[in-house]
Amino acid sequence: MIDRCGRNIDYLRISVTDRCNLRCIYCMPESGVRLVDRSLILQEPEIIRICRVMAELGITRIKFTGGEPLVRAGMDRLVYEIKKLSGIQKVTLTTNGILLKDQMEGLASAGLDGLNISLDTMNAEIFQQITRRDMMEKTLEGIREAIKYPSVSVKINCVPLGNEEQDICQIAMLAREYPVHVRFIEMMPIGYGKIFPGMSEQQVMEKLTEKLGKLKIYQGPALGNGPCRYYNIDGFQGKIGFISAVSHKFCSSCNRIRLTSQGYLKTCLQYTAGRDLREILRNGGSDQELEEMIKQALAEKPDGHKFLEKAREDDTENLCMSQIGG
Ligand code: SAM
Ligand code: SF4
Repeated sequence: MIDRCGRNIDYLRISVTDRCNLRCIYCMPESGVRLVDRSLILQEPEIIRICRVMAELGITRIKFTGGEPLVRAGMDRLVYEIKKLSGIQKVTLTTNGILLKDQMEGLASAGLDGLNISLDTMNAEIFQQITRRDMMEKTLEGIREAIKYPSVSVKINCVPLGNEEQDICQIAMLAREYPVHVRFIEMMPIGYGKIFPGMSEQQVMEKLTEKLGKLKIYQGPALGNGPCRYYNIDGFQGKIGFISAVSHKFCSSCNRIRLTSQGYLKTCLQYTAGRDLREILRNGGSDQELEEMIKQALAEKPDGHKFLEKAREDDTENLCMSQIGG
């Protein structure tokens, strides 16, 4: 699908739930977000139908996210069904890893291609401060389990908060210890992310170079769905990546759209622009009508975010990242 800016949209991120077993301070309030009634969340057949129509329109890669996708029962079944759709080349999932150990075997046998596991620190106390839960060991267990499956590529995602004790170099070292890529994601001013300074790519790069040696740009084949730029460090098995939506805006090559757990098709992280697909599904709409809606949404996909400017109130997204899916 080519949008009005000439961008090839081939990547869909689907939030399968707004529920989560952590409460990351930059993502949601301590009390959690107000959960929507389960009846409003898309059912499995509805997700599969949207994916089938999306695949016919040119979507080739799908990522499941949340909330925490693994708190939703039957994710292995969903992965299996989506992998069977004609045109879908890759199905991946992003998770905090807490429930991964027990689900990994099922996900791998269902054909999952890749996992992004979020881990912001390896210090248990700081993990508890960031996630408001004392569960770091569970995430580490999940990572150790995931790397046992060579068919599933594993990436670690870390959002630097600008706090020394987070020790981002220790997270980067996971790429030395294991064959995993470690990516640093710039804090985006979405939801609670607005109140944290975060660290720019340059600040992270300087810190890593000082402690771990020179980062050399990787110029090989693409390693994922999006705008991450990768670097090698001598002696490391995995690469170090940067996803810097604020300091290195990549909207002109944006290839993605998002589906919220309630079936709203969002065409830009920062804006409410999009269409309610659940309404069509639940009112007996045909595949053709669904296609039309998706095309209409794409025709209005914003040119890009304006994170560094004062936001307009009218069409700016008020949801938290856990409700959008990141
Ligand atoms: N619960 C899963 C997880 O944590 O991976 C999936 C959903 S979570 C919203 C997806 C990703 O968004 C996580 O890597 C999280 O760190 C990131 N994230 C949340 N809020 C963010 C923000 N304001 N800026 C940048 N990344 C953010
Ligand atoms: Fe949950 Fe992921 Fe948000 Fe953390 S970042 S609160 S794990 S949805």
